[in-house]
Order: sequence, then C-alpha cells, then structure tokens
Amino acid sequence: MLIFERSHPGRRNAAQAPHTTATASGIPAALLRQDQPLLPEASEMDVVRHYTRLSQKNFSIDTHFYPLGSCTMKYNPRACNTLAMLPNFLARHPLAPESTGQGVLACLYDLQEMLKDVTGMAGVSLMPMAGAQGEFAGIAMIRAYHDARGDKVRTEIIVPDAAHGTNPATAVMCGYIVKEIPTDANGDIDLDALRAVTGPQTAGLMLTNPSTLGVFEKQIQAIQKIIHDVGGLLYYDGANLNAILGKVKPGDMGFDVIHMNLHKTFSTPHGGGGPGAGAVGVAERLMQFLPLPVVAKLPSPHGGEGLGERGSVATYRYLTEADLPQSIGHMSAFTGNIGILLRAYVYARMLGVEGMLRVAEFATLNANYLMAELRKAGFTAAFPQRRASHEFIISMKPLKDATGISAMDVAKRLLDKGFHPPTTYFPMLVPECLLIEPTETESKETLDGFVNALKEIRDEAHATPELVKGAPHTMPVRRLDDVKAARELDLTWKPDHLP
Ligand SMILES: *Cc1c(COP(=O)(O)O)cnc(C)c1O
Repeated sequence: MLIFERSHPGRRNAAQAPHTTATASGIPAALLRQDQPLLPEASEMDVVRHYTRLSQKNFSIDTHFYPLGSCTMKYNPRACNTLAMLPNFLARHPLAPESTGQGVLACLYDLQEMLKDVTGMAGVSLMPMAGAQGEFAGIAMIRAYHDARGDKVRTEIIVPDAAHGTNPATAVMCGYIVKEIPTDANGDIDLDALRAVTGPQTAGLMLTNPSTLGVFEKQIQAIQKIIHDVGGLLYYDGANLNAILGKVKPGDMGFDVIHMNLHKTFSTPHGGGGPGAGAVGVAERLMQFLPLPVVAKLPSPHGGEGLGERGSVATYRYLTEADLPQSIGHMSAFTGNIGILLRAYVYARMLGVEGMLRVAEFATLNANYLMAELRKAGFTAAFPQRRASHEFIISMKPLKDATGISAMDVAKRLLDKGFHPPTTYFPMLVPECLLIEPTETESKETLDGFVNALKEIRDEAHATPELVKGAPHTMPVRRLDDVKAARELDLTWKPDHLP
C-alpha cells in the first residue's frame, strides 16, 4: 500500500503544518504554481506506522543472515555510524575553507594512509563513489599512463571469464577491447590462454584475487610477470578484501592499481543502491594520475606531527590540478561520499592491524566451515579441492537434474525460511550456482541454521516440488518478473493509480 492510499483530504499532521501562508518573493508570477501539489494527507501516526511497516518488510543484515557472495553484506558496527554523524562532520559545508576543516581532512588523510598500508600501494584517492567508478578511475589511470609515454598501440584489456560484470564494462567505457580468458577446472587462470592473448597491444589485465569463484589465484607471480614483461599493467578488483586484510597485499602481488569497495569491506553494507565509496590505490608510477582531490599532509613548521600549535597551522590540504596536472580529474562532486569515508575511517581505527587480521581469519574460517558442512550434507562444492577464501560456490545442478528444482527456486524458498539467498547464477561459469559469503561476524549457530534450511529445501524438492517452485509464500510479493521490473520500472505515483 502506498502512502497516497492512506491519504484523506484535510487530514493534517499538526506539528508539521505550515502556520503561515508562505509568500514567494521575487519569483516571477509565471513561474509560480497555480495548483496545490499532490501530496498525501495523513496523520503523524499513519505516516510513522506506514514507513515502519514498510521497513519491516525488508531483509537486512540487522534482521537476517545475508550471505550475498561477492557483495560482502557485513555487520556495520553502530559506533561507525555514530562517530561519522558527529554534528561537526554533518554540518560542515564541503566548500568551507581547509583551515576550518583540519579535523575531517586529518581523518581522510589517515584513511588514505591506512588503505595504502593494507594494500601495499604508494598512493590512494578516496574520491570514486562506487566500486564501478573506482574501476573506471583505475583503468583511466592505466590509459593515462600509456598515453603519457606516447605508447598508443595498447588497445586491449584482458579479463578472466570469472570476472564481475563491471570489469569488462569498465574496460569498454575506457575505450578498450576486452580479451576474455578462461579459467581452468581448479578455478585458476589458464596461463597458456593468457600468454596467447598477451602482447604489445596489451594495456593491462583486470583480476580479482581471491576470485569471484572464491579461490586464491596461486599463479599470481607468473601472471604478473607475463603482463609486466609486455609492458602492460595489473589491475586488482579489491571490491571484497575481507579474506586478505592484513594477510597479503595486492602491491606485493605485483598489482599497479586497485579499487576497494569501502561499502563492502569497511563497514557500510552494500546493496539497495545506497551510497558507496570505491577508493583507488596506485603504485608509484601511477601517482601523478590519481583522481582529485587527494589529501596531503604538509610538514609542520614546528617539526612535529599533526596540527602543530592547536588549530593554528593548516597541516592538511587538498591537492588540486596545480599539484597533479596529469590527474585523470574529478570523479565526484566535492570530496566524495564523505559519510562512507568517515565510517570506513572509524572502522579501520577500531580494528587496528590486529582486528584486520581477525577479520581475514574469521571470514575465511566461516566460509570454510560452511563449505565443509554443506559438503558433509551432500551438496556439491564447485571447487572441492580448493580452500574457500571469504566465499565459495555450491552448484544445485545435481538437484535440478533429479527434481527440476533450480538454484533460483532454492533461493526463493530460502526467503520463507528466514534467510536472504546467496548470490544466484553468478559467476555464470558454474551451472545452477549459489555464491555464498557468510562474512566474519556470523555465529556457528547461524551457519548451522543455514545448512539446515538448505537440507530442508532439498527434502521438499523431492517430496513437494510445487511448494519450492511456488516460493516465496510468506513474503509481501511472490515471484517478480525480473525483466519487466528492470525494463519497465515505474516509480512515479499518479492520481489515476488510486483505486
Ligand atoms: C561489488 C563488486 C564490484 C562493483 O562495485 P559497485 O560498488 O557495485 O559498483 C566490482 N567487482 C566485484 C568483484 C564486486 O563484488
């Protein structure tokens, strides 16, 4: 039900009704509206209950296990929110002078430093506002690097078939031809295929490691040598860093540029189209191309660290085109998604190095425990010979062959059992796949409950397949027409929508 359908003419929320008739001064009469806008008229309690009820229809990590592989839907500690919303952060105008914003600049600078540390890169810019935008920044920097050297023959970006869809899309948006290479039966890159497509035309390779197949690419040293030997650069898709935080650094693996989804790994949950932050990190040779602004720390005139004499010296400032004339430019208005950046800063400070190691260890432990339990229960892991990273894949193909129940049916039935489904049908390499990421913050009981739910659904698939095919039965909406919902999305309310 829409709020408009709760509307009654003249019903008011007294506290919010305007007490005076507003007069718009200085606006030409021709531009003033003649009719009242069509707004719902409802009492305060009607409004409160309407939106509270709607919010209760959502699945969220605050209410349900949400094992969405490759999207790291992890717990967001409340402290991150609270601190990012301190009034002085919230009320600061993005164009306020740097001298009055030394605190927020210091936070951003420290976040850049921590991300450099964790990734082993030489420089970081926090400006991209999504993973995909970080990828765009990264590949744009690779292009700027080759261009600056007068190297105009590099027309291709190599992308493995397991890659997230944004990888090839990014390469194309940056004007490159995508060369897809296959993955072998172990989930690793096929090195012969890689060698076959690599040459003087190679601008770079985009790689996710651990890959979206949930395995760590063991031949990474050989891969980086193949690409670097022909003068190409290596791009690391670091959307989900949980499994490697504090353990391995993409810089040490030989990567030249990386994006990180702060809205997956660093406390802000992904999904729902909410705000994101896709910080980029680069090796030394790409530093001059970083997107702006980057926060710099100037040596204190007193020789010390930090603010020097309290607040009197501006020690932090934004680098501009004057400092980095070869920058690929601005990616976003002002200084990126500042709320997400501050949350990531608080989260990283709360964890520290020790905490980051714990994240990696528990993320990996939880994924491997869940994979082992599911295998024990008779489910088919896509790469049983490999350890899981922070995520892993099971295939529902045997179930489909036996009962006709597909991975999609299982996913929908999981909703009835109180679990958000894992990522379904991605990566497309594995038939009837579920890509499962439990994250580091889930308890053993929750993981066991998830295994039980899948076992129950498998039993239902044999005994009462119609029940599974018709799922979900308990949700506000049943099965959606995915194509229609995407192609004919209609989010506007018009009066003729009223009954
Ligand atoms: C989520 C994700 C992206 C894209 O991030 P967005 O913020 O959704 O644009 C890219 N690569 C991988 C592996 C991802 O999981």
